[in-house]
Amino acid sequence: MYNLIVETSTNLPHDVRRAIDRAKQKENAGTRAALSLATITQNIGMADDHVLPICQDTGMLTFEAKVPVGADQIEMKKQIHEAVRQATADGKLRPNSVDSLTGENSGDNIGEGTPIIHFTQWEKDEIDVRLIMKGGGCENKNIQYSLPAEIEGLGRAGRDLDGIRKCILHSVYQAQGQGCSAGFIGVGIGGDRISSYALAKEQLFRKVDDVNPNENLAHLEDYVLEKANTLGIGTMGFGGEATLLGCKVGAGNRLPASFFVSVAYNCWAFRRLGVTLDAENGAIQSWLYKDGDKVTFAEEEVAATSEDPIEEAPREVVLEAPITEEQIRDLKVGDVVVINGMMHTGRDAIHHHLMEHDAPIDLNGQVIYHCGPVMLKDGDGNWHVKAAGPTTSIREEPYQGDIMKKFGIRAVIGKGGMGPKTLKALEEHGGVYLNAIGGAAQYYADCIKGVEGVDLMEFGIPEAMWHLRVEGFRAIVTMDAHGNSLHRDVEKTSLERLSQYKERVY
Ligand code: SF4
Repeated sequence: MYNLIVETSTNLPHDVRRAIDRAKQKENAGTRAALSLATITQNIGMADDHVLPICQDTGMLTFEAKVPVGADQIEMKKQIHEAVRQATADGKLRPNSVDSLTGENSGDNIGEGTPIIHFTQWEKDEIDVRLIMKGGGCENKNIQYSLPAEIEGLGRAGRDLDGIRKCILHSVYQAQGQGCSAGFIGVGIGGDRISSYALAKEQLFRKVDDVNPNENLAHLEDYVLEKANTLGIGTMGFGGEATLLGCKVGAGNRLPASFFVSVAYNCWAFRRLGVTLDAENGAIQSWLYKDGDKVTFAEEEVAATSEDPIEEAPREVVLEAPITEEQIRDLKVGDVVVINGMMHTGRDAIHHHLMEHDAPIDLNGQVIYHCGPVMLKDGDGNWHVKAAGPTTSIREEPYQGDIMKKFGIRAVIGKGGMGPKTLKALEEHGGVYLNAIGGAAQYYADCIKGVEGVDLMEFGIPEAMWHLRVEGFRAIVTMDAHGNSLHRDVEKTSLERLSQYKERVY
């Protein structure tokens, strides 16, 4: 189980790698989308080489175990828990289990309801265990429809295949880049609200390149995959050709009165693997999802792609805190900012805290990074960053503008973009939003040259305020101080494109 966890966290399955590689081939060199995909593939290579988490959000661990009759499930559960504890202590998993009422982090990923473990009996002698690690950013973009419904951009969706088609297309649109697109979706049709979502998540265990045995659903999967990639949302919502990398649909029976369509959205960091085990001694007999070619991604990918741009290269601006208002007002959407010097992490708990309290350090002219890193302390008491990609920024929308003004913060780095309240504050105060590549946790960890301290550790490792010294940390300006927002523009054009698919197909 320990090997399964480490491998799932650090080494993307072969079918997922091939899907990402196909998407990369389709993007035009030099575009934002191509550069983002190059960062993603470089990150995949780094995580694999150094056996470190692909993304700092190591997600909700969900184990699906099929066991022979007579297998001791109580003992197996204990062993899974032990392996999870060990993998967390070794920095292969981020402590991700938080008490919903007190906010306390258990520190070892074990807690009420976590990890999720399901056992099913089967008639074979071997044990089959599959693990999926689905992060919060993409989990938050899951969506459930109850038909009939009025669907934004697509009109009325009835209780038939055509209504289902509209729901699935809309699910990709509503995710925009916030679930770290390009993504994969699992769809569950029917059931009750709970089993419909369970069926959707189950679809994520299908291989990306399999073919649905139900002809209607196979056609629907192909249709959605093709049309979703015309929406122009692209990698991280920056625009581009690759929006969806896989679509798998399953159907179950339903009550006459209900008709649910549930969509489980998974980011590009689609971490799911499996093993078959010898039921006598627990030895791994075979790995699942590792068949076919393994595409390996080289570390110099980013440079290689950007050497031959078809578009004008973006302007590059180097900044070091403290940053002045003038420097910020000079930036425009599309510029690439390279940050050297200090930045400070802050996510949900910090933003909530700063609304009512003073900051532990002077944040005037500083950079806030929406990030919950994986950190490990060495024997001498020094902290080291093991994974540090951006988290979803929109969660801070209620606070961000006020906090920037209150403390004089000039730049915020995150992923997925922010809303109108923050955009207005950026304009009034002279601030900028920078989009880093979601999930590229190794790529960004490599830019962090030192951990200069930490405050508010009582919120737990992911939520504490880490003071990081960085070098060459690159991010794209996607919201500037002139009222421009790439996210708003992409959302608008993708809605227009979605509306093309209003007409009945089935
Ligand atoms: S890649 Fe993005 S959505 Fe996926 S786990 Fe990482 S931060 Fe979350």
